[in-house]
Amino acid sequence: MSGLALKNVTKQFGSFHAVDDVDLTVPHGTFVCLLGPSGCGKTTLLRMIAGLEEPTTGSIVLDDQDITPVPTHKRNLGMVFQSLALFPHLSVGDNIAYPLRIRGASREEQKRRVEELLRMIHLPGFADRPVSKLSGGQRQRVAIARALALSPKLFLLDEPLSALDAKLREAMQVELRQLQQRLGITTIVVTHDQREAMTMADLVVVMGEGRIRQAAAPIEIYRKPADAFVADFIGSTNLLEIAIDGSGRITVLGQAMPELKMPAGISKAAVSVRPEDVQITAPGMGTIDGTVTFVRDLGGTIETFVEASGTTIVSVATPRERPDVAAGQKVGIKLPAENCVVVKQ
Ligand code: ATP
Repeated sequence: MSGLALKNVTKQFGSFHAVDDVDLTVPHGTFVCLLGPSGCGKTTLLRMIAGLEEPTTGSIVLDDQDITPVPTHKRNLGMVFQSLALFPHLSVGDNIAYPLRIRGASREEQKRRVEELLRMIHLPGFADRPVSKLSGGQRQRVAIARALALSPKLFLLDEPLSALDAKLREAMQVELRQLQQRLGITTIVVTHDQREAMTMADLVVVMGEGRIRQAAAPIEIYRKPADAFVADFIGSTNLLEIAIDGSGRITVLGQAMPELKMPAGISKAAVSVRPEDVQITAPGMGTIDGTVTFVRDLGGTIETFVEASGTTIVSVATPRERPDVAAGQKVGIKLPAENCVVVKQ
């Protein structure tokens, strides 16, 4: 298969499993985001793909070739790390040309490729500028161009945008995704930012404690989270406890929701319902009644916090759908069954 395959990859540090039996197939040209909380093993997995760390067991296959024993410099990779590691005393052009020079490319070839890469990152004419005079976003682009100079088979980035401020980071996410789509290069990015992953990825791989919890398209992860950990990590959600009543039906906050089914083989579960799917109604008109405890008006969205049966439920609306409610008011809350996902806890 053309692309990357991780086969039962495990990394132990002593008896600790930093990466635990990871199996993943990444078709050629896919943009993958490895996403998860601090310490879940994202960087260790990326370092194994890069050849900077040796798997304890398992293999890494690139375009049908087992590259597990192949050293980093022979894997044909482009890499960008948070630190960028640009040479501060060199010009933009010399930074980008560095890998080409090491490979023995002629001066003309270096110049032609640097110009091509500078156009690609929207910095034409920047070749002679000192790197030290660039803005954060420009440096980021230069690091990306240098990593792509040798037209690698695989592009690996570890938290590449985390040093940038929020606005610039969002703009660079779009830029990086557009660049990747133009080049069609298989790309793997480590991030702990779920918004970043949703913006860029074809395939989001959510990790927890060294294992893959779910690997799927961003919207599938958002709409059909595999378990409560994933539901809570991707976007905001209301995780509501469920119970089974005398007739075997699922109840949520004491209300029977016969449309919901308990998936087979699960003993402990909750219902995940996204705040934008929770509707505020008049008392008695929803699934359950409650009392508004707080309204947060963020301009673009309005969040209403409602306490019902000892649980706080958050509803999000746009200004147009704004519920006309205030703290202390009794309301109904509608939990549409089609938007409720039963997840393993
Ligand atoms: P972060 O988002 O904080 O960078 P991460 O998901 O990238 O976290 P890793 O850096 O892969 O996590 O680390 C996973 C686990 O392995 C952590 O508990 C870390 O302390 C441990 N670990 C990583 N490298 C080593 C090492 N060389 N020796 C021992 N333990 C290590």
